[in-house]
Amino acid sequence: MAERLPTGAVIGILGGGQLGRMLAMAAARLGLRAHIYDPDPAAPARDVATAATCAGWADGAALARFAAAVDVVTYEFENIPLEVIDTLAPLRPVHPGRRALATAQERVAEKSFLNAAGLVTAPWAAVGSAADLAEALGRIGTPAILKTARMGYDGKGQIRITDPAEAPGALAAIGGGPAILEGMVAFSAEVSVIAARSASGEVAAYDPGENLHEGGILRRTTVPAPSLPARHRSDAVLIAARILGALDYVGVLGVELFVTPGGLLVNEIAPRVHNSGHWTQNGCAVDQFEQHIRAIAGWPLGDGSRHSDVVMENLIGADMARVPDLAATPGVALHLYGKAEVRAGRKMGHANRIRPRA
Ligand code: AMP
Repeated sequence: MAERLPTGAVIGILGGGQLGRMLAMAAARLGLRAHIYDPDPAAPARDVATAATCAGWADGAALARFAAAVDVVTYEFENIPLEVIDTLAPLRPVHPGRRALATAQERVAEKSFLNAAGLVTAPWAAVGSAADLAEALGRIGTPAILKTARMGYDGKGQIRITDPAEAPGALAAIGGGPAILEGMVAFSAEVSVIAARSASGEVAAYDPGENLHEGGILRRTTVPAPSLPARHRSDAVLIAARILGALDYVGVLGVELFVTPGGLLVNEIAPRVHNSGHWTQNGCAVDQFEQHIRAIAGWPLGDGSRHSDVVMENLIGADMARVPDLAATPGVALHLYGKAEVRAGRKMGHANRIRPRA
């Protein structure tokens, strides 16, 4: 049983974006403090944290000082260099652990892990060269999606291939590899499940949400998920539990799933709190941010049962002009990230529209 961090203990958070900001706010609600580490002096989490370090990921001295100032380390995005974890892990507990981060960072490792855990994914092949791609297309067929193996997010670094003749151009467009080719899944809906595992191995999952993407960016999450057949709801939760157990995971995990007539396929996992879990802030007594802090602080998990129906809408770029209207709309809870600069495609906040549970 892990030690339960007492009031005043410091949660070190790598990354100071909106997820780090909402983690810091959840930590504060539990009487804990947050120390943000981010190379960006304008990182939005700094506004709500007790302390912040502005330094690069390769700054070993700054990382050592950060470790000395915190009681536990976590992260808010999966593209933290593994070397950062390797520097910090001998000094302080890091949750989720290195294996979860390494698995989620690289699509070939991720798909291999999921399949080895007995979970179904799209058919896939690792692609290191034009010859690999031709061979993979021969096996998987078209349409297919070619994705960079690393650093993909919000639909970036991926391209559809509808004809094998497009292969060379597609590989060049995503930087030449390493990459992964995936068969195109004919899904009826995309859902995600947010689940947590405590230091003592207790698991809790939130209700699955249904996600709508626009231009590769999450637009809306609806809970309960309207297109998820009842028989698949428990499947989604069991899939998440299996992943948590297989990774000996501590913290909150997001699992993105495709709904098909034959069942659920796993698209990807995120070893962190997840945009599609923001509805929990107004739909549950204990939201995903507090659940993550509880897990990594050695606390028992909280009550994540859903008391309301929620539609979470991301406020992206120019959507900020709608804030005055949304602020005056009954049943809407606003969560704004305090980002100074509005840019097209930038997540500026989100709005949770709540109704009593049907
Ligand atoms: P990803 O970055 O892997 O989450 O992909 C972004 C989005 O592209 C997903 O949310 C899906 O809408 C779509 N997508 C990704 N992979 C596939 C696939 N194998 N088949 C169909 N659609 C996909």
